[in-house]
Amino acid sequence: MAEETIFSKIIRGEAPADILYQDELVTAFRDIRPQAPTHILIVPNRPIPTANDVTPEDEPALGRMFTVAAKLARQEGIADDGYRLLVNCGRHGGQEVYHLHMHLIGGRPLGPMLA
Ligand code: IMP
Repeated sequence: MAEETIFSKIIRGEAPADILYQDELVTAFRDIRPQAPTHILIVPNRPIPTANDVTPEDEPALGRMFTVAAKLARQEGIADDGYRLLVNCGRHGGQEVYHLHMHLIGGRPLGPMLA
């Protein structure tokens, strides 16, 4: 089994985080190094390491990540102007934390995606 990350501790309430949403499938909390006025991470509660590791059983959680993203974007007041949803995968994707997560980034114009 893959080594546990800080995100599992946050999900269990064992590490501090600004949690904005939690249910039986997903948890959302603010990124500690925000890249924009809104920067939220939405994670499946099951510790899926990367996008390569998703299974059909994860489809309810993966779908929930999108509905929670839309709800939080409205809550943050950024839905109308738009925002970015991003999942990094592996070394070339720039993934730092090996617990799958979706970034919800907005609150300013983000420009082109690739640097
Ligand atoms: P990645 O590059 O897609 O893996 O992004 C990992 C993100 O997790 C980065 O934006 C980090 O700032 C964020 N992060 C790392 N540790 C914590 C934490 O303990 N709480 C909240 N965000 C974190």
